[in-house]
Amino acid sequence: MLDKAPSAQVTAVLSRLDEALTSGDIEAAVALFQDDCYWRDLVTFTWNVRTLEGKDAIRDMLSAQVQSVRPSGWMLAEGEDATEDEGVVSGWITFETGVARGFGHIRLKDGLIWTLLTSMTELKGFEEPTGFERPLGAKHGAGKFRKTWKEEREEEAASLGRATQPYVVVIGGGQGGIGLSARLRQLGIPTIVIEKNERPGDSWRKRYKSLCLHDPVWYDHLPYLPFPPNWPVFSPKDKIGDWLEMYAKVMELNYWTSTTAKKARYDPARKEWTVIVERGGRQIALYPKHLVLATGMSGKPNMPQFKGMERFKGDQHHSSQHPGSDTWRGKKAVIIGSNNSAHDIAAALWENDVDVTMVQRSTTHIVRSDTLMDVGLSGLYSEDAVRKGMTTQKADMIFASIPYKIMHEFQIPLYQQMRERDAAFYEGLEKAGFMLDWGADDSGLFMKYLRRGSGYYIDVGASQLIIDGEIKLKAGSDVQEITEDTVVLRDGTELPADLIVYATGYGSMNGWAADLISQEVADKVGKVWGLGSDTPKDPGPWEGEQRNMWKPTQQEALWFHGGNLHQSRHYSLYLALQLKARMEGIPTPVYGLQETHHKA
Ligand SMILES: Cc1cc2nc3c(=O)[nH]c(=O)nc-3n(C[C@H](O)[C@H](O)[C@H](O)COP(=O)(O)OP(=O)(O)OC[C@H]3O[C@@H](n4cnc5c(N)ncnc54)[C@H](O)[C@@H]3O)c2cc1C
Repeated sequence: MLDKAPSAQVTAVLSRLDEALTSGDIEAAVALFQDDCYWRDLVTFTWNVRTLEGKDAIRDMLSAQVQSVRPSGWMLAEGEDATEDEGVVSGWITFETGVARGFGHIRLKDGLIWTLLTSMTELKGFEEPTGFERPLGAKHGAGKFRKTWKEEREEEAASLGRATQPYVVVIGGGQGGIGLSARLRQLGIPTIVIEKNERPGDSWRKRYKSLCLHDPVWYDHLPYLPFPPNWPVFSPKDKIGDWLEMYAKVMELNYWTSTTAKKARYDPARKEWTVIVERGGRQIALYPKHLVLATGMSGKPNMPQFKGMERFKGDQHHSSQHPGSDTWRGKKAVIIGSNNSAHDIAAALWENDVDVTMVQRSTTHIVRSDTLMDVGLSGLYSEDAVRKGMTTQKADMIFASIPYKIMHEFQIPLYQQMRERDAAFYEGLEKAGFMLDWGADDSGLFMKYLRRGSGYYIDVGASQLIIDGEIKLKAGSDVQEITEDTVVLRDGTELPADLIVYATGYGSMNGWAADLISQEVADKVGKVWGLGSDTPKDPGPWEGEQRNMWKPTQQEALWFHGGNLHQSRHYSLYLALQLKARMEGIPTPVYGLQETHHKA
């Protein structure tokens, strides 16, 4: 009789998959999947970040890759039991390829594979020096003229970029550049991080004074060094800045502060970049093999151009330039925009006795922070989850295991629950005239973030000020022009202003490629971010993955890295492994290279 226990079911499927793939019987492998199936691969099979949707896509990928990948050893992960919930059997799995070890997740329905996640954890022979392999640090014994750790570090820092060249240059030393470079260092990849700010962490420090992270601490850990257990749930921006500065130092990054990348050019014959950076008034040329743009998806402000802006006598700036709210006490401020920054800044201005009006042109999705934490995140990223044994790695992998194509189906009921729980709150907002939405298909915040990276506010108090009329609201209209001292809206309303804050969001990271490399390369690479969901600001065709992020692009040796702290932490591993494989000359046949459908 067939063993119906979840672990036995997973083991049986894995052993058949192993057999089919080892013998190159692709049809037998495909037959293990149900019709409505998904295989998400993070670098192991595709040397890419790809989701194969349906049996045909899986068959095509396997036909192209299986010979070179040489998968084997599929099994239930050691110490893990599979579980069953509402007819879905789930389990953690391990496997190997010819060159790497992998970890993943499987879901079965009726004994067939519904979702499969395969991810690379390490390259064989190039494992990170951790655990038993950690460096000794001390040099026991005796040796003449031997150097200390400090002397060696100083020598390395002095010679890299001068006497020796980095293999990778990372432009941008925010959390993304820092976390990735920490991984590259552990993998022994000579790397320089180029950062125009004076100190690591400044990209957070320089944001508006009242900012605290909107995501909780369990979501925000950096690779290798989790926050201590007394770290605040929502980190104040200057505190996260200090953490990043400490992190860059203790992770021994070669981090060039006060250095601006000016230009980069790729020589396909030499397979090498020339990156010109300005440091201490001098131009220095670096010659890395790979270039990573970690310049931030919230780094290129979208500054609108309205008629009459030049005659405005007060202060006007983009939200990214907003220093703080205390200098406008007793004055009038108009905020253009109604997403996170607009709300945070409006609330801080109100706290400083500024008369604030928010101009809302189109709908915004709002969720209350407490509710989002309870309903949206608590299962994976919360103290409760930690107490129940959830690790950051597992939480990241569970999140990664849900294919983007069906992720909204998982999200919609959660947001329905939030809507019901906070019905009175939403009613209050609507009564105040605030225009709400729940995402294109009611799938809420995460989908909006993944699709367009904008269009929401995680409420930490500003909404109540709008409900109470403390923050004034002009909804449903747009700016017609700016006069010397007012903002004139299309509906004829004239709002007196000493300060105008344009909380109008940020442009695609592709713009950085245009600035630093060329428009031609930026166009060749195309839009960065979004899933191709054919929802507002995320035009189709469907991609199934975030465009151009953490994976090979149409420009050889050019990579994009970034996202929120969770994404930066998780995907930096796969980007680091892709770079390491290339450095070691391991063949990396890319399957399904990102196509370009949109220029920016
Ligand atoms: C107001 C706000 C609140 C946010 N809240 C959260 C949150 O709660 N949780 C979360 O996870 N995410 C949040 N994010 C999103 C995201 O995590 C942050 O934007 C984060 O800073 C992104 O990190 P990054 O390293 O990708 O980019 P950045 O932090 O923007 O870093 C990019 C760096 O590149 C440098 N740079 C750019 N061009 C050059 C050049 N030519 N030469 C040298 N250096 C250059 C910049 O100086 C900058 O330091 C928030 C974003 C904003 C704007």
